[in-house]
Amino acid sequence: MKDRKYKFSWDLLGDLKLGRPNLGSSTRIEVYRLMQFIFRDVLEGHFGTEKTDQLFYEAGKLAGMEFYENIIGQIDNFNEFVKKLQETFREMGIGILRIERADIEKGSFVLTVSEDLDCSGLPDLDYEICTYDEGFISGLMESFTGYKFRVKEVDCWCTGDRTCRFTAEMEK
Ligand SMILES: [Zn+2]
Repeated sequence: MKDRKYKFSWDLLGDLKLGRPNLGSSTRIEVYRLMQFIFRDVLEGHFGTEKTDQLFYEAGKLAGMEFYENIIGQIDNFNEFVKKLQETFREMGIGILRIERADIEKGSFVLTVSEDLDCSGLPDLDYEICTYDEGFISGLMESFTGYKFRVKEVDCWCTGDRTCRFTAEMEK
């Protein structure tokens, strides 16, 4: 597609020091969640549930790749990558990241995000809801390793687990 109007670039996030001298770079989580859940509602109305999930995953993935490039930066060592992610997730209020299992050889990981920006504190539902996060993690993993990853949320605050747990498997 050429002449796209909305192709993402990090510059679109703007100069917050200039633009918000009094309010700063933070906002309330309700505002973020309001936008995310309203998008989900409207997209589902237009495209159905499956397509909406696919779009959320894809959007999360692009965000993860941009986040890696612009915030995390090129890192070669897995432990340093995890440490930097943990620090950044905490500092930016995204969540508390832990790696439960890492098989670097096989490209197989289990990680948890507690106090997750997207879902922590939501009412109980009968499905995991962090599709955007799945994509986000897959984008981070792909940027770090150079390989594609399939990420699935297996436990969520919404399913009663009080933390989000993700499996990440390298695609072969
Ligand atoms: Zn979750």
